Amino acid sequence: MPIQNAVVIGAGQMGSGIAQTLLQYGYNVALVDIADAPLERGRSAIEAGLARLTAKGRLTETAQTEALQRFTTTTDLPLAVRDSDIVIEAAPEHIATKQATFKKLDASCPSHTILATNTSSLPITSIASVTQRADRVIGMHFMNPVPIMPLVEIIRGLATSDETCDTVRALAESLGKTAVEVKDFPGFVSNRVLMPMINEAVYAVYEGVAEPEAIDTVLKLGMNHPMGPLTLADFIGLDTCLAIMETLYEGFGDSKYRPCPLLRQYVQAGWLGRKSGRGFYSYNSS
Ligand code: NAD
Repeated sequence: MPIQNAVVIGAGQMGSGIAQTLLQYGYNVALVDIADAPLERGRSAIEAGLARLTAKGRLTETAQTEALQRFTTTTDLPLAVRDSDIVIEAAPEHIATKQATFKKLDASCPSHTILATNTSSLPITSIASVTQRADRVIGMHFMNPVPIMPLVEIIRGLATSDETCDTVRALAESLGKTAVEVKDFPGFVSNRVLMPMINEAVYAVYEGVAEPEAIDTVLKLGMNHPMGPLTLADFIGLDTCLAIMETLYEGFGDSKYRPCPLLRQYVQAGWLGRKSGRGFYSYNSS
């Protein structure tokens, strides 16, 4: 079944990046959120992103205008998904939110619609279990920032069909991405490897081993990482980092994944990184 109509749930940094990329590559996109303010922020980010591509000569002005003509935003989920071929969910990293969303999607989408989640770590099988279409539920894990990062991690739940995997792989490739298929274990591959490193960097701050700048410099200059782990954590969102560590800790029952108390405290304080203006570093609100 060829994909033409895509719906993205959640207009945050990932949802707006996914929507922008789908628009850039010719798909019709509806972006859904629970309120107008995030939708407006998402629309502005998408417009700015497409304008940047045009300024760099990667998109013609006609293509930019035409992309925005294929774009709608709404808080009405059932209406948005009425003619959808695929829904990509990018709501916050909480199992209860994802399951409630998937239940609603299952009830509102046509029977052929694939339900994909951009979850960073939550079990696809458990998200699929609240639907009557577990064969058409899949993990489609984009990296941040979506328009730039070339990887999509595809996660097959216990009941995901080959046809669903093939369709989602083809969609990822049509967006210029490389798809890598992995099995449904906590954190998949990307965050099972990345997040314990970030958590360890937070422990180094917590224990006073070094200042955040020093820790990031060690990893940048010593290990050739393009960005230090604490800068990256601020970029991802500290709430998302904490949620992923909790999933690893709970999923494996292994104390090596315990979230650092300092990470928990920052999230409790509302210091979520770039998106809230403060995390391990401070950011201007502009
Ligand atoms: P975010 O906080 O930037 O955005 C989340 C958006 O979802 C907000 O606009 C919020 O209003 C909206 N929302 C909340 N409840 C909702 C609901 N019930 N229905 C629809 N929308 C709802 O978060 P994000 O960083 O974009 O992360 C979204 C998802 O993508 C998470 O599952 C996260 O783990 C995953 N992810 C994040 C990154 C990253 O680097 N931040 C990378 C890959 C995957």
